[in-house]
Amino acid sequence: MKPQIHDIASPINASRLELKTAVASRGIIETYTPYLPVSAATPIITLNEGNTPLISLPYVSALVGRGIKVFIKYDGLNPTGSFKDRGMTMAISKAKEDGAKAVICASTGNTSASAAAYATRAGLKAFVIIPEAKVAMGKLAQALLYGAEVIGIEGNFDEALSIVRQLGERYPVTIVNSVNPYRLQGQKSAAFEIVDAMGEAPDYIFIPVGNGGNITAYWMGFCEYREEEKCTKLPKMMGFQAAGSAPLVINQPVLNPETIATAIRIGRPANWQKATRVRDASGGEFNSVTDEEILNAYRILAGKEGIFCEPASAASVAGLIKHADKISDDAVVVCVLTGNGLKDSDAAITYSGNEFKKGIKPSYDAVAHVMGF
Ligand SMILES: *Cc1c(COP(=O)(O)O)cnc(C)c1O
Repeated sequence: MKPQIHDIASPINASRLELKTAVASRGIIETYTPYLPVSAATPIITLNEGNTPLISLPYVSALVGRGIKVFIKYDGLNPTGSFKDRGMTMAISKAKEDGAKAVICASTGNTSASAAAYATRAGLKAFVIIPEAKVAMGKLAQALLYGAEVIGIEGNFDEALSIVRQLGERYPVTIVNSVNPYRLQGQKSAAFEIVDAMGEAPDYIFIPVGNGGNITAYWMGFCEYREEEKCTKLPKMMGFQAAGSAPLVINQPVLNPETIATAIRIGRPANWQKATRVRDASGGEFNSVTDEEILNAYRILAGKEGIFCEPASAASVAGLIKHADKISDDAVVVCVLTGNGLKDSDAAITYSGNEFKKGIKPSYDAVAHVMGF
């Protein structure tokens, strides 16, 4: 018998559907409530972010050798395609709780996409300020379609953030950049998930660093979990910046940061002190990787492991390949893949090293010939 419309809409089916959704997938706030600054009064604005996979990298593990086991935390699988969603669910929920009507952020792209999506979900207006010449098209597309007010400046991220800070002081708009403490609270959930999946903390985290918010959030997460005895050790935090945009490595601001990895094209990190403290407390390091090394890791991840990330994310794996000698035999390493490859399809096409064989006649012979038969 064919299902009737009234069957689908019946109260019984509707409640079953709700129950299934609740069990199958919750966002990070519902999953980690006791660890987060929320109360019964907090409206939970979620797109079921988090719960992203930890995936082994057999090719890269063999490449670095010495029994080192390499995994990625694939945070490009979040609802808007980057880890920013973990922080944004918290920042927007708290903004809503506090009665905000509008939010604002400076962004190289991913924060704007995430803020736009969660603000829409909450019924808030989102203003996003982006460096117009250096934003990846996928991210711009998202911010526009989610309905944010998208404002491009003829400048870089650091200039955008400075404008946003001033606007946030003078007007009733809540800043949702990683200077908003709720962002880091939400983002620490990635560390919880890693320990929940592995039953222990890894020996090392390799992570791309832009403003230094995420490395700080991971560290908070691991430290809180160790307090709770969910793990017995803490990882060394290995942060990587792009060589043309490496203020934390050279220990001074970079006025004109340049890199293909636009998500980490930041010359004056907003969380500078915090990130530096994390490095020191964990016994980790900050190092840089060149655009060429980033692109090499980008191609290895996609072409050898089947994992598509955006260039900035590949900085973590590039860092591991370059600095494998710094880590001990048999170590467990998690590289954080911060954003989805589809964010920047231009970069993928330009740097794939592969060829799109076009202009072939629509005939069996012509296609077979191109195939080498
Ligand atoms: C935001 C972002 C980063 C940098 O994170 P920070 O918290 O600013 O250090 C790295 N990769 C991607 C894809 C990002 O969107």
